[in-house]
Amino acid sequence: MPQEAHVYSYSAVLMGSPILLKLFQHNEHLAHQVFRLIKHYENLLTVNRSPSEVMNINHAAGLHPVVVNPAVYQLIKCAKAASLLPNSAFNLAIGPLVKCWKIGFQGSSVPPAGEISARLALTSPHQVILDDEQHSVFLAQAGMELDLGAIAKGYIADRVRDFLHSQQVFQGLINLGGNVQTLGGASQVSGTPWSVGLKKPFAGPDDLIGVIEVEGKSVVTSGTYERWFEFAGKRYHHILDPRTGYPLDNELHSVTIVSQDSIDGDIWTTLMYGMGVDQGCACLANKPGIEAIFVTKDCRVVLSSQQLFTFTLQDSSYQLV
Ligand code: ADP
Ligand code: MG
Ligand code: MG
Repeated sequence: MPQEAHVYSYSAVLMGSPILLKLFQHNEHLAHQVFRLIKHYENLLTVNRSPSEVMNINHAAGLHPVVVNPAVYQLIKCAKAASLLPNSAFNLAIGPLVKCWKIGFQGSSVPPAGEISARLALTSPHQVILDDEQHSVFLAQAGMELDLGAIAKGYIADRVRDFLHSQQVFQGLINLGGNVQTLGGASQVSGTPWSVGLKKPFAGPDDLIGVIEVEGKSVVTSGTYERWFEFAGKRYHHILDPRTGYPLDNELHSVTIVSQDSIDGDIWTTLMYGMGVDQGCACLANKPGIEAIFVTKDCRVVLSSQQLFTFTLQDSSYQLV
């Protein structure tokens, strides 16, 4: 029988999240390079402190275009395209609303309705003007702000995978906190998948609804139970509906996307939040390579399809649909 490979785990705290890297060889140097790469992209993309390329764009809103690094440009272009899909819940220009809700940060409160509508007027993705030749980005109205918080982790997870491939590492796992990207399987025995836990909403960190098994795929979960505050008995979470300016309010507690690329996981978790279970499943029926696991508030686990992963339910208070 082939010998089980030993897994070496390396951890760090980056992008405000615990980061976990798993490799099948003991290689501190490689782990250090991976963490440095993550830090590099965090510094380019953050909107929580200056300077960053995205902050430079935001500071120049209504004034002038800003030439950015080609990788940042491509990411913004991809985020704009996702924002312009019909009836998209994803919006790269959501920044002014995120800043006024402050969900997950100190001082979060329900903003006055007038402020929400004023901020909504500053979130049109059409007003994010791109120039492919210059690699420049221009926010056409003063007060506009890009926020790549919903897509940065996916982008970075994919860059880590590509970097590991360039170093001839074809097996491993990177977990950026909500975004898990796997390379190959979980042991040298072929056909051994990685297990990724599906968290139970509002429960302890190790409390699982079930386990997702994948090989060489990304697993991204976005949950309304991750960052929220309560006001007057109502819970407000951090995924905002760009059509209303308020947190998305529907039957969902979380959406998980299994796909090749983690950036697709990021985009599609948000799109699926906006659509809900029925419309979401109908939409994914025409999207091979993108599969969703919806967890509803009434304790159903709905799988859009199951070509890319297997799912095992563990918590009998949930019903698998
Ligand atoms: P998680 O924090 O669970 O990974 P997401 O990946 O959906 O969740 O990212 C949420 C973050 O994205 C928010 O904190 C905010 O910065 C930003 N955001 C909120 N609503 C939207 C939206 N509708 N479209 C794009 N970005 C959003
Ligand atoms: Mg995310
Ligand atoms: Mg998302």
